[in-house]
Amino acid sequence: MTSTYWFKDSQELIDYQEGNYGSFEYGRYGNPTTKACEEKIRLLEGGEDCLLSSSGMNSAICMLLALVPANGHIVTTTDCYRRTRQFVQTFMPKMGVTCTVLDPSDYDGLEKALDEHDCSLYFSESPTNPYLRCVDIERIAKLCKPKGCLVCIDGTFATPVNLKALKHGADLVIHSASKYFGGHNDVLAGAIVGDKETVAKVRQFHNILGGVIDPHAAYLVMRGIKTLQLRVERHNENAMKLATALEKHPMIEKVHYPGLPSHPDHEVAKKYMNGFGGVVSFEVKGDLWATAKFIDNCRLPYIAPSLGGVESLIEQPTVVSYWDQGPERRAEIGIKDNLVRMACGIEDYADIEADIIQALDSIKDGVEAPAKATSA
Ligand SMILES: *Cc1c(COP(=O)(O)O)cnc(C)c1O
Repeated sequence: MTSTYWFKDSQELIDYQEGNYGSFEYGRYGNPTTKACEEKIRLLEGGEDCLLSSSGMNSAICMLLALVPANGHIVTTTDCYRRTRQFVQTFMPKMGVTCTVLDPSDYDGLEKALDEHDCSLYFSESPTNPYLRCVDIERIAKLCKPKGCLVCIDGTFATPVNLKALKHGADLVIHSASKYFGGHNDVLAGAIVGDKETVAKVRQFHNILGGVIDPHAAYLVMRGIKTLQLRVERHNENAMKLATALEKHPMIEKVHYPGLPSHPDHEVAKKYMNGFGGVVSFEVKGDLWATAKFIDNCRLPYIAPSLGGVESLIEQPTVVSYWDQGPERRAEIGIKDNLVRMACGIEDYADIEADIIQALDSIKDGVEAPAKATSA
């Protein structure tokens, strides 16, 4: 825990300036605990360098600002973390940066965008939030590389236990370490991994911007990583079983899980992933209010945003992330009011299933909208 690093005399400082003495100099430029954590994440992803920062959003924004030139062009996908989309669509245009937004499996669209624009960056989650779309990384890299377009995958939902995006040709992998790396819903952090040169560009900008992670937070991430493999195996197992059970339930309209043959990217997911992750999205047979009632009647998962912790969390994207958008805008971006996102924890699977099934059964006979249903 330190904010500055002292030198024994001016000569040592001069040696440091000339690259002959190693120091972080100041807390914004580095910390030994943070560095140890970066090294672990770097090794897990198989990259040359890793930069840890104060949050996943900070990592994503540092990366975008450091690597995309003014008046540049980027390609992203329709299904995407709300705040990333917001930054790309409302702040990047201030630097003249334009964006092509594609369906995750629209490879012809990607080819066209690469032909028509000087694209600096392709950026997609895999799996995406909340529909868990998975992108064909090798195919994307093959299209992007010859055009000098960097490929960055947000691997938060996958973790390196399930997906090693760099091995398949991505240039960069980004993580909200607040999720599976931390793993206990008690710390915010972000990470970016890639080749030395590219990460150095991001680090240089990060050193100026200052979204530095606190060393204690870095320690918590490192402690979480000790059990990452075990936890993710259990998350995978619980989610796969729940997705399978839900698909058979009469109160479910549709299940979105890349481990199911019914998912549009099942083949892609099978090609790249060791497991399909802990998040299951599904559509309840019923409207916004029936779906809310189902969630209220669940007793095991907490009603909360986020994912990746040991506790199961459940949310209705319409209510938690898109309430301010109104029904038309939600329809436009494909957020259905009956959609539920369940981030399976590592509890005993039988407890999870029993609870979700009893909550679904509780809305079988219909649910009335509350009298003061406002903005929905
Ligand atoms: C949570 C999340 C982020 C943002 O990370 P924070 O650590 O909350 O800032 C970005 N991308 C994905 C896919 C996420 O789930």
